[in-house]
Amino acid sequence: MRIDLITIFPDLFTGILRYGVLGRAISAERVSVRTHDIRQFAHDRHRTVDDRPFGGGEGMVFKPEPLAEAIESLELPSKPERDPRREQVILLSAQGGRFTQTVARELAGLKRLTLICGRYEGVDERVSELFCDRELSIGDYVLSGGELAAAVVVDAVVRLLPGVLGNDASSEYESFGPPDPGAGLDPNAPPRSTHGSGGLLDYPHYTRPAEFRGLQVPEVLMNGDHSAIRRWRRERALEKTLRNRPDLLAAAELTDADRKFLRSLGYRSE
Ligand code: SAM
Repeated sequence: MRIDLITIFPDLFTGILRYGVLGRAISAERVSVRTHDIRQFAHDRHRTVDDRPFGGGEGMVFKPEPLAEAIESLELPSKPERDPRREQVILLSAQGGRFTQTVARELAGLKRLTLICGRYEGVDERVSELFCDRELSIGDYVLSGGELAAAVVVDAVVRLLPGVLGNDASSEYESFGPPDPGAGLDPNAPPRSTHGSGGLLDYPHYTRPAEFRGLQVPEVLMNGDHSAIRRWRRERALEKTLRNRPDLLAAAELTDADRKFLRSLGYRSE
């Protein structure tokens, strides 16, 4: 996969691309990530990339010409000729559709992903119309620029690429993961480090020491009873989802036992 980041601050990505899972994925050539400085495509003496808004109002607006040239320099198919299952050009924007794990999985299937980082009051709308396949927002808040949002997208997408995580299954069995067939309830299967969350949040994790500042690791995790461990993890995931993100329960894959457990916690589905 190739990822291109279009930004006025390419240096912001230097550290992010060097460390951890992302750094290793780049070194192992599972992905190539390139940054492009928009100011290289501004041709006046001051390399101006912003201008005042038509119609008046606060702040400045990202000019379309340098962004258009930066995108065109990547020699992607033009927007009408693009196959969005192979390549997408995406504008990071607080007005975009929500970036979720489902979108991350979709983007991880692309050959090329181009992310445009806005600044100022935003990007001239014609850039989105002419060049972008979609706009994505990483959450309901306003950042000062698209770089942090792009870094979030790159991180979430790259860790889903085949071979990037030590165990490819680990990205499937975490918060927002797709359902695990049987939801890990087969009493004969050994418990994995995590189980298919089926749209739930992940369950709590513990490692050594067994006692830390007066708090013990739950006994059930120490006694080797795999089916008890699996049930305990499932119930903790249900409990945590009910407490922190009850909105996820409506679409989660729930067994009869899950529903009974949730009812015992006071959850009432419509
Ligand atoms: N005036 C815009 C609005 O109210 O929607 C906010 C512009 S913001 C100050 C500047 C840039 O930060 C945007 O062009 C976008 O690229 C980026 N940005 C801000 N919030 C974002 C979010 N939640 N998700 C993705 N990008 C965001």
